[in-house]
Amino acid sequence: MIGLISATASGAAARDRLAAAWPGRTRVYEGPVRAAVERAFAECEQVVCFFATGAAVRLIAPLLEGKSADPGVVCVDEGQRYAVSLLGGHGGGANELAGRIAEVLGCEPVVTTATDAADVPGLDTLGLPVEGAIAAVTRAVLDGEPVELRADAVWPLPPLPPNVGPDPAPVVLRVTDRIVAADPRQAVLRPPSLVVGVGASSGAPLEEVLGLVEETLRDAGLSALSVAELATVDAKADEPGIVGAARALGVPLVTHSAERLAGVSVPNPSDAPLAAVGTPSVAEASALAEGGELLVPKRKSSPGGRAAMATCAVVRRRPRGRLAVVGLGPGARDLLTPRAADELRRASVLVGLDQYVDQILDLLRPGTRVLESGLGAEEERARTAVAEARAGRAVALIGSGDAGVYAMASPALAEASDDIDVVGVPGVTAALAAAAILGAPLGHDHVSISLSDLHTPWEVIERRVRAAAEADIIVTFYNPRSRGRDWQLPKALEILAEHRTPDTPVGVVRNASRPDESSRVTTLGGVDPASVDMMTVVTVGNTATREIAGRMVTPRGYRWQS
Ligand code: SAH
Repeated sequence: MIGLISATASGAAARDRLAAAWPGRTRVYEGPVRAAVERAFAECEQVVCFFATGAAVRLIAPLLEGKSADPGVVCVDEGQRYAVSLLGGHGGGANELAGRIAEVLGCEPVVTTATDAADVPGLDTLGLPVEGAIAAVTRAVLDGEPVELRADAVWPLPPLPPNVGPDPAPVVLRVTDRIVAADPRQAVLRPPSLVVGVGASSGAPLEEVLGLVEETLRDAGLSALSVAELATVDAKADEPGIVGAARALGVPLVTHSAERLAGVSVPNPSDAPLAAVGTPSVAEASALAEGGELLVPKRKSSPGGRAAMATCAVVRRRPRGRLAVVGLGPGARDLLTPRAADELRRASVLVGLDQYVDQILDLLRPGTRVLESGLGAEEERARTAVAEARAGRAVALIGSGDAGVYAMASPALAEASDDIDVVGVPGVTAALAAAAILGAPLGHDHVSISLSDLHTPWEVIERRVRAAAEADIIVTFYNPRSRGRDWQLPKALEILAEHRTPDTPVGVVRNASRPDESSRVTTLGGVDPASVDMMTVVTVGNTATREIAGRMVTPRGYRWQS
């Protein structure tokens, strides 16, 4: 929830505009400002003050608790010229909120957090818990001083600036799950590498379970901040001591069936859990259920004076790389989704066709490794992207329009195995970009057909065109015509003309949303294939499609009948 507080009439007007723009996500705090700030501070994740930063600083100062507890605070000035990110720039999301407020109110976002200003990711924004000399290392990263990245394994981190690398340097950024000695020139990122398998008899006290887990990690020299999850058997999913320990560590509790656990081979099986829950191992087997290396075999709690009620075992998993398959949209920057832009900045390796890479170079963070290749090298691009992800890196594989439509997603995912995470970001595909320019041609059932017979035999393409023609489906042709392929489009139009009249509207859109965009609405009888090239899509209406005021409109069917 975003709390909104104003002090004057003009502040209240801006406040109300924001509340109207974000229904359900904001709460207006009326009444005396000091009390309003106190309540909003306690109740909201973010607070927007429509008054001076000085007043805001004085009001929130007594309420501050710490970076992880305080809400993000943004101040909007009396004249609504600026949205100032005042508190919680990263963790509280105030920088991002200032940007969004600026869009709604038409003012300027003001962000002073050092790392954002230099477009270098803050150590606390890398997606991993961080501890140690955070400020000193951040300063070195920002100042361009050499910083040694010393990682136990490759994790899918966002790009780091070029002064951060593997060469030895006095300032060190470590990526490890091991406990390391405090050092004023070292910060430590904690990767989610550890799985702690836990077993407990009914009623095992929380302190006993949590105490065992913490002591086991400490004795093994492992950081609790690297625990990705607690794991146990289904039958213990509601065991209070285990549930409480997961909550105390701030990690999810994952459970597995007894059959599954019984199938995991472990060094220390025993009869007791076999009788109780049906598997010879709970702690070791649930820690090992998803694979990995057993660092600490089964260990029992030692409550003193009575029998142990808890067991645990610790496994280290291999990092999982991340492959984002990102559609860039048809061309115009504002048709590239915010999510696509985020993924491009999230990836440390970018793979794509050179002409698309050039379009988005300005969106990349410094330090992003760009692997571009020319037309035709599709298989190779797909293989490269998957190999980089399998090595543990964060990779973005890009394509124009939607990356899954006649593009890179399928060859890449055909290569990919289940040891990487795959994230798809949809893009505005050419058919939709063209349709919006033409009017409303896709108001009823429609299909896309690629006329490229490089990878598909012409007989197959022709059969599909014929089926669409017979079924009266609107057709958008991709890859309609190139220098070496000039007879396919006329042939396809001829097949459609067997079932549609010559006055059926046809939309031809070239370079949709790009600087040299052009489009026209013509007819099946009048379309000139010579005006079509590889930068073009051709949309042929169905028998109900009409040209109305120069626009192509296909009725939805239930009101106008064809
Ligand atoms: N993945 C892309 C399609 C790749 S196939 C997408 O989803 O849009 C390449 C074909 O797409 C081109 O030959 C052309 O027919 C069409 N195309 C792509 N971008 C276009 C644009 N901006 N305007 C018109 N047609 C486009």
